[in-house]
Amino acid sequence: MEQVLVSLEDQIERAVDLIRRAHYAVALTGAGVSTPSGIPDFRSPTSGLWEKDNPMVVASITSFRANPQVFYNWLRPLAELILYAQPNPAHLALADLEQRGLIKAIITQNIDGLHQKAGSRCVLEVHGHMRQATCIRCYKQVPANSLVARFLLTGEAPCCECGGVFKPDAILFGEQLPVRVLNRAIAEARRCDLLLVAGSSLHVVPAADIPFLAAENGANTIIVNLEPTDFDPRADLVIHGDVAEVLPRIVELLPG
Ligand SMILES: [Zn+2]
Repeated sequence: MEQVLVSLEDQIERAVDLIRRAHYAVALTGAGVSTPSGIPDFRSPTSGLWEKDNPMVVASITSFRANPQVFYNWLRPLAELILYAQPNPAHLALADLEQRGLIKAIITQNIDGLHQKAGSRCVLEVHGHMRQATCIRCYKQVPANSLVARFLLTGEAPCCECGGVFKPDAILFGEQLPVRVLNRAIAEARRCDLLLVAGSSLHVVPAADIPFLAAENGANTIIVNLEPTDFDPRADLVIHGDVAEVLPRIVELLPG
């Protein structure tokens, strides 16, 4: 109840205070950071990407191996959005925080690379990314940009010279997460004394586990998200707002 009574200004001041006092702050971001850049949350049934196919089925590693063209047909609109998307004020605010030494790393569930486009350097992409693709037969790795551009023109699943199909290095449902990145993310979560969760509803593991790992170490938690999360009752500060509005306001009030 108390949080309902607190104004957004007070909440932002509290966030500024928590960030200023932190020695090792880490951010955790999810789909909500990229929706203001026009990228839908493909796990959400309201994203428009569930109309024909259930992504849990079509974007699974099993269906990819069985019929990559069906996956690529589903991916096409999303890939186009990702290729041309630009960082929004939330990405820029997080990049600014890192540049000023106020956050040390970003753990992200997003595969769109927008944190890097915004200038963030230490980005741990626990669900992989779209910058590179790997042949599922011979494991040859290629940069994905020209591959994606060509695919958007032809609509055909990109093939390797060995005859195998290239799969983007984004992690599909049922696929193993990138172990080294994941371990690094877990280490950052255990090391931090402040976790800033932005635009994640914390429904999906491993993101859902990160605040608990941080809390075990006594870290404070700030959550900025439109929807409530399961971790809200344990967080030090919860701001139910738009990350693209709230994060820049926090950054503005921090010392340069
Ligand atoms: Zn190959």
